[in-house]
Amino acid sequence: MGLLLRGGRVLNLENGELESRDVLVEGKKVARIASSIEADAHEVVDLGGHVVLPGFIDMHVHLRQPGFEGKETIETGSKAAARGGYTKVACMPNTRPVLDTPELMKYVYDVAQREGSCSVLPYGSISKGELGEELTDIAALRAAGAVGITDDGVGVQSSSLMREAMRIAASLDVPVVIHSEDEDLAKDGCMNEGVVSKRLGLPGIPGLAESAMIARDILLAQETGAHLHVCHISDAWSVELVRWAKSMGLRVTTEVTPHHLLLTESIIDETDGADANMKVNPPLRTELDRQACLKGLLDGTIDMIATDHAPHMEEEKKRPFRTAPFGFVGLEFAFPVLYTELVEKSSALSLHELVKKFATNPADVFKLSGGRIVEGEVADITVVDLESERAINPDEFFSKGRNTPFAGQKAKGWTVLTVNEGRITYKA
Ligand SMILES: [Zn+2]
Repeated sequence: MGLLLRGGRVLNLENGELESRDVLVEGKKVARIASSIEADAHEVVDLGGHVVLPGFIDMHVHLRQPGFEGKETIETGSKAAARGGYTKVACMPNTRPVLDTPELMKYVYDVAQREGSCSVLPYGSISKGELGEELTDIAALRAAGAVGITDDGVGVQSSSLMREAMRIAASLDVPVVIHSEDEDLAKDGCMNEGVVSKRLGLPGIPGLAESAMIARDILLAQETGAHLHVCHISDAWSVELVRWAKSMGLRVTTEVTPHHLLLTESIIDETDGADANMKVNPPLRTELDRQACLKGLLDGTIDMIATDHAPHMEEEKKRPFRTAPFGFVGLEFAFPVLYTELVEKSSALSLHELVKKFATNPADVFKLSGGRIVEGEVADITVVDLESERAINPDEFFSKGRNTPFAGQKAKGWTVLTVNEGRITYKA
């Protein structure tokens, strides 16, 4: 018996047309796409004209397990992902212990298999314990299923260590995924360095702490031939550097978060730095930086959207701005908030261009299945309602985290159905 998704409108990724089609799923694959498919002997879900998209892929989430299960678990985080329309997420290794061995890759795959609501792809760390001193066994991590290597949460300060990591990664064709942060420039900053940080008397993190590291790593990628993927780009010079690297034909890709596309440090200014739900790393920056990120997204410099979903406990985020942990949740509303602001309200980009940033491009860049709905290929599917408007309500989150500056904002484009490898993982 198959799963028949009837009466939906399938987005054509080439021309952006919405085409009335039924989609038949058998096992883990899309069996047929046609204007009308007989319902006999199939489980039928009536989609009522809602829009059928390839399942979203988020290459940057923190699921916190093992070690910080009070913040999130693979079970709750992947449930949140499914609710947000995601069928694959890549989880960061800054857990406790750090995901730095093949055994820990297997641990994540096993827990996700048992308790997960989407495919979970672990990153292995670049350095043991993310201490920046000694390289992990990159070949063994890759063999155990690491989707890439990264020390996300901290930057790799040692240039010689990064150079060696890139040499090995290039020989194994493993993506090197960088949290670019020069700690000597960032110091103990808690927001963007500039007029607002000065006015509030808070220590700042200059954009240069990000862009200078990206410049170094682009040059290392040039020398070694490694695929460099820049995490959560946020600064205008950073975007310019990636644009230059691409123009030189280097294997450099990047991602941007919904918050760096839509928010600036002005929201911290307006609340006098009193609300740590606005604290994130890299920090919310200036309008000039935000515009640069938007331009980079539109012209193809920025390949994909990633949420950097970073749940924390409520009491942690109630601390003063200076001492509270960095991070926002994002999985459950990333698509609605960007669809509403960038497609519906401002027409900055079209629906199919946005969907490519959410699904097709991450699949292509990281050589993953999915990203398209094609007969004979994996049935990773998201159905969204582009009409109904609802406010973002943290009380409804499946995630344990409630920390978002978008709470209360109204949006359209909510997920009504998610199918991961042929299995329904979320239904509104
Ligand atoms: Zn990071």
